Formats: sequence, structure tokens, C-alpha cells
Amino acid sequence: MIKHSATLAVNEKIAARRASGQTVVHLGFGEAGLPVLPAVADVLRAAADQNAYGPVLGSASAREAATGYFQRRDLPTTAGQIIFGPGSKALLYGVLAAIPGDLVLPTPSWVTYAAQAALTGKRTIPVPIPAAAGGVPDPAELESALHTARANGADPKILILTLPDNPTGTAAGADLVKQVTEIAAREDLVILSDEIYRDLTHHPEDHVSPASLLPERTVVTSGLSKSMALGGWRIGLARLPDGPLGATLTDDLIGIASEVWSSMAMPMQFAAEYVLSEPAEVTDRITRSRNLHAAVAHAVHEIFRSAGATCRTPNAAFYLYPDLEPLRPQLESAGITTAEQLSAHLLDQHGVAVLAGSHFGDDPGAYRFRVATSLLYGSTDDQRLQALASDDP
Ligand code: PLP
Repeated sequence: MIKHSATLAVNEKIAARRASGQTVVHLGFGEAGLPVLPAVADVLRAAADQNAYGPVLGSASAREAATGYFQRRDLPTTAGQIIFGPGSKALLYGVLAAIPGDLVLPTPSWVTYAAQAALTGKRTIPVPIPAAAGGVPDPAELESALHTARANGADPKILILTLPDNPTGTAAGADLVKQVTEIAAREDLVILSDEIYRDLTHHPEDHVSPASLLPERTVVTSGLSKSMALGGWRIGLARLPDGPLGATLTDDLIGIASEVWSSMAMPMQFAAEYVLSEPAEVTDRITRSRNLHAAVAHAVHEIFRSAGATCRTPNAAFYLYPDLEPLRPQLESAGITTAEQLSAHLLDQHGVAVLAGSHFGDDPGAYRFRVATSLLYGSTDDQRLQALASDDP
């Protein structure tokens, strides 16, 4: 049975605790933590009377705006390669449903991939991520996992890369992306490159998309949930590969989308078109958000390090993935032997919600958990706006 997504479940648990009067510091949910940019809200209001069903792939003008978005990021793109959907989660599901074969899953990784693989009848082939990287597996481990998987009768066909990564808040380096893309090309894998945090890379100029290296076999998914803090609006998009695979995938996704969600809500297509054409207000907002996310993640990173935890230095998004292994003796003497117990203890004893690493496929006996630092910007929109406006957050 597929369970309630761990990230959404923790959110609801916290809401119930708060409703019963408890104070909870909620660091468990991947919410961007910022209010809607007023100019985007105006576009949505003006589109409120757009009540007809929309085109399955998205309107021509929204798809055109998306091509500009990718072209400004050095990915030559035609409107025929773009599909919109109600969140990139739905599009990821559509792509997994459309491509037969099994899923190679770098671990730890975002909670949803393994669940979607199960929903689409795929086996998952886990591959560890090196300590200094995020979202991209170790090349030698990848080759050996492919070999073992095939020897065991699995059929690895899709490799997910999360660039940058949730849960670790890390953007993998260009060299690692290149090495892994070369293996994917040799091994006939399709790369599913989840780039939802791309614009929140602290140094965006360092980002390398596998779509620039393996254009005929890479699907890029993205959306406005994180960079524009519009998670509840459900605006996702995918850039499909060039060539025959792209053509087949487009047909398959038209079939899946038309039978599952019909189209992204029409008013949202107007909002997406506006944001993806990147007027100055939008780029300014994204730059400010990126700086705020970076400053707060670094401050919290320092707190974990000085408390004795090990933790990768964040360089993207708004996550940290501390490891309390150096504190094992103290934790064990308090009867805490798993990440799940540790997260339950933090919530019950300290009112702090985090998500245990086991939800991301990590070793349940480790003391690793994910912290979403974007939930620290304040409890009201005014406080969050002040944090965003400050040059020294
Ligand atoms: N991909 C990753 C890695 C995420 O962390 C999330 C949200 O938490 C998503 C995709 C989902 O994004 P969307 O809101 O576009 O469905």
C-alpha cells in the first residue's frame, strides 16, 4: 500500500498539534516559506474568469514563455518540447508511467520518487550518493548497481538526478554530473533531471543540466513551487528530450495527462506565462529569495556544526541534512537508537519537527534527518516580507 507522503503527513501532524495549542518549530516541510509576489497575484486575479478547460500540454503562449526560460539557461528549446501540469510531481509520475523499465534511484532522495516507482510498477535500484555531492550517485557505485541489477533480472531504464538536491540542500558539481551523464548515455538510460530547485542554487552559474550533455535522452522537470514559493498553486512543467524519444514521450504524456488531470488550471497558465517570461520583479524576487535561503541555511548549519553534528555545507535550496552520529553515546544513553526515534524525541520533548532520513531511503539506524530552514523566516507574512527585503537577513 502507498502511504500518505511523509512530508505532507508531518505537515498535517504539526497543524493538529498547533490547533491543540502546542508550540511547534516546524522544520519538516519543503515549503518555500514566502508570500506570493503581488505582481503575480494580480495576473492570477485578472485570469480568474478563464474557466474553460485548457490545452492538455499548456497554452501556446505559456509554452513559448517556457522556451525562453530554458533558452536563457543555455538549453535550446522549442515550444513542442514543453508540457505543463499541476505541479512537477504529477509530471514526474506521468514520465515514470510512460517509460517502461526500472528506476535507478540515488539515495538518500526525495520521498516521492520511490513511492511513484511503486505506483507505476517499477523496481527501484538504489545507488548511494557520495558524501560531498547531492542528488547524483557515485559513478563507480552506479556502474556496479546497474550490473548487479541486470544480473538479478531488473531492467534499469530511468535514472533520476535531483539538481540541486532535496534532502541535502546540495548542488552536485559539474564534473560529477558529466561523469554520470556519460554512464547514462553508455548504458542507454533516460535521465529524469528534477531541477525544481535550479533557480535556488546559491551559485546559479555553476548549474549544469544533463539536458545540455545528453539532449536526446534527458527529461527536465521544473516548476514555480520553490523559486516563487507557489507550491499551493500547482504549477509544474517538463522539458522533453529532442528527437524520437521526445516525440514518443509527448504522445504518451498527452494520453496520460488527458486521462488524469486534463490540463493545468487555466488561470495558472497565465501566472506561469508571466513568471517564466521573467520580468524584473520576478528576477529580483528570485534573487532575494535565494540570498535569504542561503543566509539562513548557513546560519543554521553553523549551529549544527558547533553542537558537534556533521553536516554538508548547504549550497542550494533551503535544506540541511545533519548527522548526529558524533553524539551517538549521548543519544544511546537516552534510549534513542534510530533516526525515527530521534525525530519523535525532538518533536515530543523539544517541539521541533524534522523528517528522519529513513523517509528518504537512508539507513534507519543512522541519526540523519532533514531540516527545512525556510520555515524560520517568521510566522506572519509581514515578518517574512521583512526578511526578504533585508539585505542582511
Ligand atoms: N521535486 C523535489 C525534489 C521536491 O522537493 C519537490 C517538493 O517538495 C517536488 C519535486 C514537487 O514539486 P511540485 O510542487 O512542483 O509538485
